[in-house]
Amino acid sequence: MTATRDTATLPHLKVIYTGGTIGMVQDTETGALKAFQFDYLREHVPELDQLHCTFDIAQCDPPIDSSAITPALWIKLGRMIQAEMKQYDGFVILHGTDTMAYTASALSFMLRGLDRPVILTGSQLPIGRLRTDGKENLITAFEIALARRTDGTPMIPEVAVYFEDYLYRGNRTLKYSAEHFEAFASPNYPHLAFAGIDIKYSPSSIGFAEPTIAHEWVAGFDQQVVVLKLFPGLSASLLDHILHTPGLRGVVLETFGSGNAPTDTTFLSTIRTAVERGITIVNVTQCYSGSVVMARYETGNVLSQTGVIGGGDMTTEAAVTKLMYLLAQDLSQEMVSRLMQVSLRGELTV
Ligand code: ASP
Repeated sequence: MTATRDTATLPHLKVIYTGGTIGMVQDTETGALKAFQFDYLREHVPELDQLHCTFDIAQCDPPIDSSAITPALWIKLGRMIQAEMKQYDGFVILHGTDTMAYTASALSFMLRGLDRPVILTGSQLPIGRLRTDGKENLITAFEIALARRTDGTPMIPEVAVYFEDYLYRGNRTLKYSAEHFEAFASPNYPHLAFAGIDIKYSPSSIGFAEPTIAHEWVAGFDQQVVVLKLFPGLSASLLDHILHTPGLRGVVLETFGSGNAPTDTTFLSTIRTAVERGITIVNVTQCYSGSVVMARYETGNVLSQTGVIGGGDMTTEAAVTKLMYLLAQDLSQEMVSRLMQVSLRGELTV
């Protein structure tokens, strides 16, 4: 990443441009979208210079499509924000939409005790296109990052995603449309703000209690995890094969409805023995909204008896990044299981 410094006494933001559609241009020969440098964004949003703030820029060189995002970049971003926390009043991260919900979730777990805004945004149409949504998203993300309460403290002391009129808690989001400007949703948690003529904040939804856990946390994400989506007909032997993958440490199991799964003994014993071998398995619903309540039906109840943990109303994105983060810490399997069921950054309704 490269950085340039701007000096002023106005509120000071850090803009981190990782890439994504927002900064892309069309290749005149192939017609495909490719990444451009941040100056292109500035050129197309001269309004940024009118906002009452100064900002520094860091950008991935070259900017990347978010489908190429890796935990290494989450760590780089998280470390950069942690190190520069006191230098800036807020952070705006420009990110491709495809994996923005994963990055927002991962950063929320890394950034403990966050007291200022980290706002991720992007767009569905490149900023140079006439009907772009990028310009509005970018300007409003800046305004939100600059917003203060009457006592002068930051309005949004969290990692959040701003997209098409709504500000959401980052680790509650998912990308649900590949086509609509309104591409993100937070099905299990209310929005933090709505940007109409005015930006209306929802104070009762903003902020969360962070548990105090005495532990030496490391900036890391264990990649020895998989997300497995159940479907009728999933072969038990294939499942067993996957669960015997050397090094596998964690599984996010997307189950039916409120956490239900087949009750046949082969399936259940495959899951049980995996848990006994030390694999942490977290149950989240494959439904768009709602929560896992394993005690509700017999089919969920028997699954909980195998040692599978209930993931409540966490999104898959939050569950998998949280599991990766916890598994990278020096914690017992029991502690990982316990913390998966605790709200660390407001990602889970308890
Ligand atoms: N493929 C792009 C990305 O995620 C899509 C986008 O930005 O909307 O980087």
